Amino acid sequence: MADYDVIITGAGLAGLTLARQLMLYTERKVLVLDKLENPPGKSQKVGESLVQLGGYYFSKTLDLEEHLLTHHFTKYNLRFHFPTAAKEQDYWDHVSSASIRTQSNIATFQVDRNLLEVELMRVNRENPRFTFIGGAKNIQVQLAEDGGLHRVNWSGGSATAEWVVDASGRPGILKRSLSLAKPNNIRHGSTWAWVDGLVNPELLSRYSHKERLVHRKRQKLGNYPFFLATNHFCGEGRWFWVIPLHGMTSLGLVYDHAVVNPEEVSNGRKMLDWVAKEWPMFAEDFRKRKIVDEGRFVDFSFDAQQTISAKKWAISGEAGRFSDPLYSPGSDLIAIYNTLIVDAIESKDVARLEAKCEFFEQIMRVMYESYVPSYSISYNCLGDAETLTLKYTFELAIYFGFFVLPFTNQLFANPQFMKTYLRKFALFGPINKNLQMFLRDYFSWKKAQGLTVPAEPVHIDFYDMVPLRMSEKLFYEIGLTVPEAEDVLDMHVERIKEFARHILAHVYAVVLGDKRVLLNAPFIASLKLRDTSFDPARMREDYARHADSDQIYAWNLNPFALEEFIPQTMPEVTTHDR
Ligand SMILES: Cc1cc2nc3c(=O)[nH]c(=O)nc-3n(C[C@H](O)[C@H](O)[C@H](O)COP(=O)(O)OP(=O)(O)OC[C@H]3O[C@@H](n4cnc5c(N)ncnc54)[C@H](O)[C@@H]3O)c2cc1C
Repeated sequence: MADYDVIITGAGLAGLTLARQLMLYTERKVLVLDKLENPPGKSQKVGESLVQLGGYYFSKTLDLEEHLLTHHFTKYNLRFHFPTAAKEQDYWDHVSSASIRTQSNIATFQVDRNLLEVELMRVNRENPRFTFIGGAKNIQVQLAEDGGLHRVNWSGGSATAEWVVDASGRPGILKRSLSLAKPNNIRHGSTWAWVDGLVNPELLSRYSHKERLVHRKRQKLGNYPFFLATNHFCGEGRWFWVIPLHGMTSLGLVYDHAVVNPEEVSNGRKMLDWVAKEWPMFAEDFRKRKIVDEGRFVDFSFDAQQTISAKKWAISGEAGRFSDPLYSPGSDLIAIYNTLIVDAIESKDVARLEAKCEFFEQIMRVMYESYVPSYSISYNCLGDAETLTLKYTFELAIYFGFFVLPFTNQLFANPQFMKTYLRKFALFGPINKNLQMFLRDYFSWKKAQGLTVPAEPVHIDFYDMVPLRMSEKLFYEIGLTVPEAEDVLDMHVERIKEFARHILAHVYAVVLGDKRVLLNAPFIASLKLRDTSFDPARMREDYARHADSDQIYAWNLNPFALEEFIPQTMPEVTTHDR
């Protein structure tokens, strides 16, 4: 007889949330081991910003709503900022922004990871089925060969269990012992620091408190505290996060190796100095701040060959795969992986476990890989408000339908639904890849034309993009049966395809300097979602073939949502175009 049903190696975010899920939804007896005596220890942990799926998982699935609302800030979406050509820099006068103005109906949070993990440990310990052993050094996992029990040994102890789940983070105990490491093609790094007090971008201004209250920009931006957002200060291939925690602020630069030399930002102070040169409005504030902790990864992204097996082992969190912090997918993937792992552990039909684990592995891989083109192909789009808006609103609309909808409807482990789901999701692989390359090249063209850093700031409301606004309504589609969810997803697929078509058409309209492009039915119908490359000379020819038509395309969206970026006249053809 096994000592435990499940042994989890690592009491970080992935391990403790998995244990919590097993406490809440199963009768399993769980042992969690960690090398630290008393995790999370004194060092502050990175990974604070939650988006809808992770927010739902922590607050609803894991029933931590009261803790989250009491000890962490609720988050006000993602806000992206871009510089203008102004020599001086004032937050209100010289910085462009792109954001969602309304609060999300699925609560999201800026979590102090250490506090959250202390709370997870506390609530887990309330359950007699949960055991924690800290200070477990030199863990060795002996996987059972023949359907027997796994044995886990550590200095001073040993235990058996039916299942072993590795959640040891970057050291990756199982990944290493089973040689499952796999590289990916994202070469990005990050340096971060926590400073005392609140860094509030709204205050980086020459305006007085009263003047800020009545600044006419608020007619566009509104009154909700901007500091509650994950504020991104963007540049080509890089972004700087400002995340508020109670009593301190998390600040971090994430960069593509192609645009930032890691040695120039090799510690917290150097990173803040580097950012203050790019964003002078921060300079005075950063000089006065005390750094309370800091960290750095020169190259943080990796894949894994496998993360679940019918031999009753699995891997969750950074012990398996990690892509990139942009859009905060870390907690989302932990939520999805843990949900599938719990379902596999609870599987009564041992004969079907093989097929189930194979299917779950496919889901885990697809959810991870769907992010990769966003990071490996078109990171440069962070350097322009319009291009990033096209990229992010498309990705976010997909996310609301293909990540949030199945998760809030508890469908991720439902094989009947997930088979159809994967088929529909696969449709977007080539469409998304084509779009990411198209936008990458569009950005390079805009940059060469000197169009990415405007003289005057622009302020974009992402919900002006109708397909995104409609996708947000999926937050209210709860309790769907499988056929109902499939119908909703079918509508979503059509919406996203139309969105991709609009993005291509919009870029054509900009390049051709002609708004009529956005209405021309035969031209718009001729656009190939999987095969349209950014080549201005060819784009002119493509349109010329249909230019005489007066047939109007029947959009379900507002094709002029970003018309302020369409020039009145056709830009001069430069040698770069050819
Ligand atoms: C720069 C950056 C920014 C990020 N920002 C976000 C964000 O905004 N939002 C988000 O959701 N995610 C973010 N992430 C991702 C997030 O940090 C991870 O998803 C998360 O920390 C992974 O948690 P984990 O439990 O897998 O690992 P950890 O939290 O590292 O936990 C691993 C645990 O295992 C223990 N351990 C390690 N080795 C051993 C061993 N040999 N024996 C026993 N115990 C061991 C450790 O002590 C630790 O307690 C970010 C990541 C990076 C790199």
